[in-house]
Amino acid sequence: MERTYAMIKPDAVKAGNAGNIIARIETEGFKIAGMKRIRVSLAQAQAFYAVHKARPFFGELTEFLSSGPVVAMVLEKDNAVKAWRDLMGATNPAQAEANTIRKLYAKSIGENAAHGSDAPETAAEEISFFFAAAELV
Ligand code: UDP
Ligand code: MG
Repeated sequence: MERTYAMIKPDAVKAGNAGNIIARIETEGFKIAGMKRIRVSLAQAQAFYAVHKARPFFGELTEFLSSGPVVAMVLEKDNAVKAWRDLMGATNPAQAEANTIRKLYAKSIGENAAHGSDAPETAAEEISFFFAAAELV
């Protein structure tokens, strides 16, 4: 069983879509091993997205992630990393497949409802960034 890090971003929490997204995660057969609703600080957002620090959208991205509460989750499933990215859909909701989380709930590439790790190695790093081992049950 693989684990991935998933996060409902501030736009979707603010819009009241967290419950629908969590229900969909369960319907699609993921086990939620950890979950918490938190406010990410700007410094945490900058550390979490450090891989993007040279990109022109880094300032907006980190300000957005720290702009309101998020729901941080650890999901378990066979091939969880790919399965969650497939369920989220493309980064730009305009290019996301029908019925994906981003097609259903995202407004724009910047405010795109959800995050998912891009590989098992980054999943392990992102999980430990937000969760202690004892919080995963
Ligand atoms: N992003 C953006 N503009 C871009 C590319 C990305 O605002 O041109 C934001 C978007 O919110 C995305 C995040 O930066 O989710 C991280 O980008 P990445 O390429 O890692 O996309 P993801 O893995 O989230 O699909
Ligand atoms: Mg990414």
